[in-house]
Amino acid sequence: MTEKIFEESAKKEKKVPHIKDLMDMAKPTTHKDRELLTKAYHFAEMAHEGQLRNSGDPYFVHVFETAKNLANLGMDTKTIAAGLLHDTVEDTKVTEKELEKEFGEEIATLVKGVTKLGKVKYKGHDRHVESLRKFFIAASNDLRVLIIKLADRLHNVQTLEYVREDKRPRIALETIEIHAPLANRLGMGKLKGDLEDAAFPYAYPKEYKEIVDLLAERSSTKKKHLEEVNKILKKELGRHPEVHVDEINFRIKHKYSLWRKLQRYNMDIEKIYDISALRIVVDTIEECYRVLGIVHSLWRPLPGRIKDYIAIPKPNGYRSLHTTIFTGDGGIVEVQIRTKEMHAEAAYGVAAHFMYKEQEHKRKKSTQSGHLGGSKLEWVENLVGLQKMTEEPGKFIEHLKMDFFRDRIFIFTPKGDVVDLPEDSTPIDFAYAIHSNIGNHIYGAKVGSRFISLDEKLKNGDIVDVMVKKDCHPVAKWLEHTKTALAKKHIRSYMEKIARSPYSRKKS
Ligand code: MN
Repeated sequence: MTEKIFEESAKKEKKVPHIKDLMDMAKPTTHKDRELLTKAYHFAEMAHEGQLRNSGDPYFVHVFETAKNLANLGMDTKTIAAGLLHDTVEDTKVTEKELEKEFGEEIATLVKGVTKLGKVKYKGHDRHVESLRKFFIAASNDLRVLIIKLADRLHNVQTLEYVREDKRPRIALETIEIHAPLANRLGMGKLKGDLEDAAFPYAYPKEYKEIVDLLAERSSTKKKHLEEVNKILKKELGRHPEVHVDEINFRIKHKYSLWRKLQRYNMDIEKIYDISALRIVVDTIEECYRVLGIVHSLWRPLPGRIKDYIAIPKPNGYRSLHTTIFTGDGGIVEVQIRTKEMHAEAAYGVAAHFMYKEQEHKRKKSTQSGHLGGSKLEWVENLVGLQKMTEEPGKFIEHLKMDFFRDRIFIFTPKGDVVDLPEDSTPIDFAYAIHSNIGNHIYGAKVGSRFISLDEKLKNGDIVDVMVKKDCHPVAKWLEHTKTALAKKHIRSYMEKIARSPYSRKKS
C-alpha cells in the first residue's frame, strides 16, 4: 500500500527543459515513438530559438511544458509531439507545409487546429459563452486539438503573473468561463481544477484571498483528523487480506470549486464536509463496497451523505462511493472509495482512455452502452458514453474527430459575438438568432465588405453584418429561405398578424 499526500503545486523554480523528463512522462513504447518525440523536441527548440516568454524564459519552455501537461494527461505520442510543435506555425517561420513534410498529415492537422483556435477571443458577453464553448469544440474538429489547447492554456494561466497586469483578468475569466467547463465536459476533473485554481487569484482576487485564509485556519485540524482516520483504517484493513488497497491519499478541495460551493451555502464553511477527503483506491468494484462496509463498521456515517456513484454515475461519468463519517473527536471526514480505473477516469476523463486502452476490451463487455442517438446537440455530454460504447481503441480516435458537429456552423457578428446555427442557414436565420426585432426588419447583409442576398447560405466562420430598416418586414418566401425553427416561427407569426389586419385584407 502506498500513501501519497497531495501537495499544493505552487512551485516557482525556473524550469529547464530536458528531453529525459518528457520521455519519463510520455513513456513511449516503440522506437518509432521515441524517435518522433526526439525529433519534435529538437525541431521545436530550433524553431523557437532566440524567442523569449514574458517571464524571460526561452519560448521553448512554454511548448515543452504544454507537452508535459499532455504527457501527464496520458495522451498518445502524436498528441504530445503536436504539443511541442503547437506554436511553430503561429509564431515562427515554419509553415504548415514544412510541418506536414517533416511530421506527416496527422500532426500537421493537429497543429493547424490549435493555431485556428488561437484566433477566437472571449469578449465577456455572458449570453455567448455557450456558443463560444461549442465553437471551440466544433473548430477543434478533432478532440485532441481541444485537449492540446487546454494543456497550452494551463501553462499560460500558470504563468499569468508575467503577463501585463491589465490583461490578466480577461485571460483568467476566459479560462474559467470557457476552458475549465470544456475540461469538465471532457470529464477531465484534474485539468478543470488546475485551470480554475490558476485563474482564480486573477479573476477574483478578493474572494481568492478569503478562501486561502479560510483554508489556512482549518487545514491543521483537518489534517489531524485525516491522519487519525488513515491510521485506524490502515490497521483494520490489515485484518482483511481479501481486500487489496492500492493507494490511500488525501485530497484538498480545489480552491475555486470550494468558493463556488460556499456561495451555494451562504459562505458557511461548517456546512462543507468535503474540503478535504480521504481517498481509497482499490482494484475491483466488489472491494469498493467491502471497504465501505469496513469504514462504516469503524465510524458512524452522517445520514444522507452516503452516495453510490458507482451504481448511479454522475452525468459526466464520474464513479465513486462517497461517505462522510464522524471521527469521534468532533471531526467530520469525507471518504471516497473507487477502483484504479475510476480514479484515472475522474482525473483524466476522455484522456484516461489513452491510458487504459488495453483494458478497454475487457471492460467494454461489462459496461452498458451510452446513448448517442437522438439529438446531436448533446455535445460533449455524450462523450463519456461514447467512450464506453466504442468497440476498439483505434476507433475511439475516429470518434474523437467529432463528425457529429459537422452540421453546425458558427457565425460571428462584427463585434465578435458568435452564434451557432444549423448548416445552410441564411442571414435571416442569423438575424433572428440575434433578436426577433432584427429578424423582423432585416433588409440586407454583408459578409466582410461583400453584400450577399438574404437567401445565401452562410459559411462556418463568416462575419456577418446585418442591416435593418424600420419599414422592412418578413415575406412568406422567407419560410423557404430559413433553416431554423426560431426564424420560421417569427415569420409565421408575422404573416398571421398581417393576415388578420384589415389593411392587408383590403390589399389582397
Ligand atoms: Mn501556446
